[in-house]
Amino acid sequence: MNWTIDIPADSLPVLPPLPPALREALDEALARPALQQPSWPDADYTARVRGLLEAVPPVTVTAEVDRLQERLGAVARGEAFLLQGGDCAETFVDNTEAHLRGTIRTLLQMAVVLTYGTSMPVVKIARIAGQYAKPRSSDVDALGLPSYRGDMVNALEPTPEGRRPDPVRMLRAYANASAAMNLTRAITGAGYSDLHHVHEWNMDFVAESRAGERYERVANEIDRSLRFMDACGVDDSSLKSTELYASHELLVLDYERALLRLEGDRLYNLSAHQQWIGERTRQIDGAHVALAALTANPTGVKLGPKTTPDDALALVRALDPDKVDGRVTLVSRMGNGNVRETLPSIVEAVRDSGHVVVWQCDPMHGNTEESPSGHKTRHFDRVVDEVKGFFEVHHALGTHPGGIHVEHTGEDVTECLGGAQEISHDQLGSRYETACDPRLNTQQSLELSFLVAEMLQP
Ligand code: PEP
Ligand code: MN
Repeated sequence: MNWTIDIPADSLPVLPPLPPALREALDEALARPALQQPSWPDADYTARVRGLLEAVPPVTVTAEVDRLQERLGAVARGEAFLLQGGDCAETFVDNTEAHLRGTIRTLLQMAVVLTYGTSMPVVKIARIAGQYAKPRSSDVDALGLPSYRGDMVNALEPTPEGRRPDPVRMLRAYANASAAMNLTRAITGAGYSDLHHVHEWNMDFVAESRAGERYERVANEIDRSLRFMDACGVDDSSLKSTELYASHELLVLDYERALLRLEGDRLYNLSAHQQWIGERTRQIDGAHVALAALTANPTGVKLGPKTTPDDALALVRALDPDKVDGRVTLVSRMGNGNVRETLPSIVEAVRDSGHVVVWQCDPMHGNTEESPSGHKTRHFDRVVDEVKGFFEVHHALGTHPGGIHVEHTGEDVTECLGGAQEISHDQLGSRYETACDPRLNTQQSLELSFLVAEMLQP
C-alpha cells in the first residue's frame, strides 16, 4: 500500500510565471551537466510527477528559511555554533514517530551539552524531512545490481525490480518529508523540547553510560538554573521551545526544481530550509551549483581532500555573489589524516576573499573504512581526531570553527567502532541498521558533543 497526493492530475493549478530573467537563468542552470541523476524510465511521466509537485504545498516556508539565514550569519561571524546531524539516508519505513523523536532527541541533547559547555547559542539543523537521495561511487553494487540511490529513487531491497528508478517515489518522498516536518515542528514548538524536560531526553539505554551520567549532571545544573530563573520571575518562551531546521542533500534535480517557489522577486527551494551540495556534484559549471546559486536558501558545500583553495574560492563566488554572512557553509570532510594539511590554505583563501562563510566539519565521510566483516564503518577515534584537527586549523588562523555535521541516530546501534562502549569489529553485525553509511549511536554522539564543548572553550 502506498500513500500519495490527490490533487487532480489533469487540472493542476499552475505556478505563477517566473520573471523572464529568472526563468532564463533557471533554464540555463537546469540545462547544465548534472551528475548522479536517476535514469528515470519515462521522461514524460517524470515531467507529470514534477507538475504535481509544483502544485503541492511546500515543505517549509520562506520566513523560516530567512530566519535560518540570519542564524547562520551569526555562526559565520563567530557568535554561534552550528550543529547538524541525522541519518545518512532517511527511509520511508523508518519515517515513524519513534525514529524521528530519536533523531531529534539526540540532537537536542547534543545541543544542550554544547550550549551549556560554551555559553554560545547553538543553531540546530537536522538531516530530516527529505534526506531520501544518495549519491553513489558506483552505478552497480556488489551483487551487480543497480546501486540503491535512496528511497526517493529506488528500493533498498536487492532485486532488479526494487532497484528500478520510479519517479512516483518523488511523490512519496514529498509526502513523507511533509509528515516528518509536521512532527518536527510540533515537537520543537511545544512540550517536548522545553528545557524543563531536559532529563527526559536521556534514554534508559544511555543513562547508565559514562556519557549518559555526564549528561545527567549537566541536566541537573540546568534544572537548578531554571529553578533560580523561576524564582526570579523569568519566564522566557525561548526556554520552552526550540528552533530546529530541516536539511538534505541537493541531489535529485527533478525533485528540487519542482519545490521551487517565488516570493516577491526571490526564488526559494522549499523542499527544506537548507540544502547542501555533495562532494560528488559540486562541479563549478554543473547544474547543482547553478541551481543553488539562484535560490535564497543558505547552502552547504562538501569539500573533500582533493579540494584546492581555488576550487573553494570559485564555489564561494558562485554561491555568494552578494557577500551575505553565512549564506554559504563550507563543509570540510577530508579525513583525519588530511585535514591539518589541506584545510589551512582553503580557509586562508576564502577568509582573504571577504566572503564570511560558516566553516563546518563533517568528520564522518572522510573516515569510512571496511570492516573484515564487510560492514562499512568508521572509527570513533578518527572522527574525534578530524574534529580536533579542524579546531587546530581554525585556532591557528584565528577563524571560527563554526560547526559540525554528523551522521547520528537516536538508537542504540552498532555501526561505528570504538567510543566508550569500545564497539569492536565483531560487534558491528549485532545492530547494524543503516540504509547507507554508518552512524554514531546516541552514546557516541553525546561523547563527541562533550569533546567538542571542550574544544570550543576559549
Ligand atoms: C552525505 O552527507 O551523506 C554524503 C554523501 O556526503 P559527501 O557528499 O560528503 O560524500
Ligand atoms: Mn553519508
